[in-house]
Amino acid sequence: MLIIKEEIQTTAYLFACVLFILSLSGLSSQESAKRGVLYGIVGMMVAVLATVLGEKVEGHIFIIISLLIASVIGVIVARKVEMTAMPQLVAILHSFVGLAAVLVGVGSYLDPPSQQMHGVEHSIHLVEVFVGVFIGAITFTGSIIAWGKLDGKVQSKPWNFRGLQWMNLSLFLCCTALGVLFYSANNTSQGMPYLLIMTGIASFIGVVLVMAIGGGDMPVVVSMLNSYSGWAASAAGFMLGNDLLIVTGALVGSSGAILSMHMCHAMNRSFISVIFASGGSSSSQSGEKKAMEGEVTAINHEEASQLLSEAKSVIIVPGYGMATAKAQYLIYELVQNLRKKGKNVRFAIHPVAGRLPGHMNVLLAEASVPYDIVFEMDEINDDMPDTDVVMVIGANDVVNPSAQDDPSSSIYGMPVIEVWKAAKVIILKRGMSAGYSGENNPLFYKNNAEMLYGDAKSSVEKLLSHLN
Ligand code: NDP
Repeated sequence: MLIIKEEIQTTAYLFACVLFILSLSGLSSQESAKRGVLYGIVGMMVAVLATVLGEKVEGHIFIIISLLIASVIGVIVARKVEMTAMPQLVAILHSFVGLAAVLVGVGSYLDPPSQQMHGVEHSIHLVEVFVGVFIGAITFTGSIIAWGKLDGKVQSKPWNFRGLQWMNLSLFLCCTALGVLFYSANNTSQGMPYLLIMTGIASFIGVVLVMAIGGGDMPVVVSMLNSYSGWAASAAGFMLGNDLLIVTGALVGSSGAILSMHMCHAMNRSFISVIFASGGSSSSQSGEKKAMEGEVTAINHEEASQLLSEAKSVIIVPGYGMATAKAQYLIYELVQNLRKKGKNVRFAIHPVAGRLPGHMNVLLAEASVPYDIVFEMDEINDDMPDTDVVMVIGANDVVNPSAQDDPSSSIYGMPVIEVWKAAKVIILKRGMSAGYSGENNPLFYKNNAEMLYGDAKSSVEKLLSHLN
């Protein structure tokens, strides 16, 4: 087996770090995203090879077998997963990172990387183990609950009760006290029970933190767990003395935290209140639910295509339903058809549309929609009053006016796409079901709103045949 010297390994790690940074910067825009992913793949291959071929590594045969099995599983899962199930997959993958950090922490406590650790070095190692296992356990169980919520296996409604914050604070203080006991223990058999009890409490904290977060705030939780998984990996890097893991974990941790802050900003939520479900979130809704005023009117495909034919400007607002219907390809055909007829057709994307940050952008890119007609909510909201027709395709929460005018709504305060300001709104959905937040949508009852019932893909197909 080829073994590489430490200097070559360090150089390879440095190279991998640069590739990871280039990867992150590539992912910041749609045009460069593919290149970014490629940098990430190459960086990861360099990282794995440089680690496995390192001087201190033993048992290569087991590593190769595990790598092969894991790669086969990875390829099968990636090929099989539906785009709509991607958020759940991402959440469950975060849980693996958390579990790995817990296992590395316990392993590294029982069998430290260097037997001769004394003084400050020993103290630092104990802190690394304790903090790493704490973050890892929260990430592990929190991600499993997030997976359950995104997959519909766990209710998305926030689990909340009086005194929740106090309970969280007490659990956190308990963990801190266990940390002091763990640090003062004379040997591993004395310290291990403290570590294991803390692991149990931290696992419970992970469950409570994510259970307490309401539907509307889930996007932040998904990106926050992404961030936690990065910090967990970084902590594992400290425990193993692996610089690459430290840097990579820090990149994931900080980029996840920045993304969470951006999403909080987009949803007009305070970062701290979302993470601790302490007000400003779904849990803080107040007052009586508003009754729906007005009547719902439905149109057929012929009438809808007539409205589109007469319109000069059209804005399309896609949402989660577009993903489930896999309607993006036909929607782009419809856009091309309308553009050929000289109409100004654009897309408006809400930052939390779908079930994953950037979900809609990925789907539209998959269907080769040109980037210059895809606009973020803030860029296009002001154009709504001058728009003839807005087509809402499988979106619901992100176009819900109660976010602006109903304090009893769980999404109150979240900026939304103001589609009701356009002359006409055509809403493509199958029935009157609520969106992810479970809130009713007064948009459907507005005078200028028309429901076009049916699966989004078949509706767009029918619209196209009428337009042709
Ligand atoms: P919503 O979940 O609010 O609404 C989707 C709508 O699509 C439903 O009302 C449904 O109505 C309709 N629909 C479903 N399937 C089809 C179909 N085949 N054809 C036509 N319509 C269909 O989606 P939005 O994108 O508006 O909002 C996203 C929500 O998800 C927000 O609340 C956000 O906070 C949350 N979320 C977002 C995450 C992210 O990172 N982006 C992560 C986690 C949660 P019907 O059944 O009547 O057809």
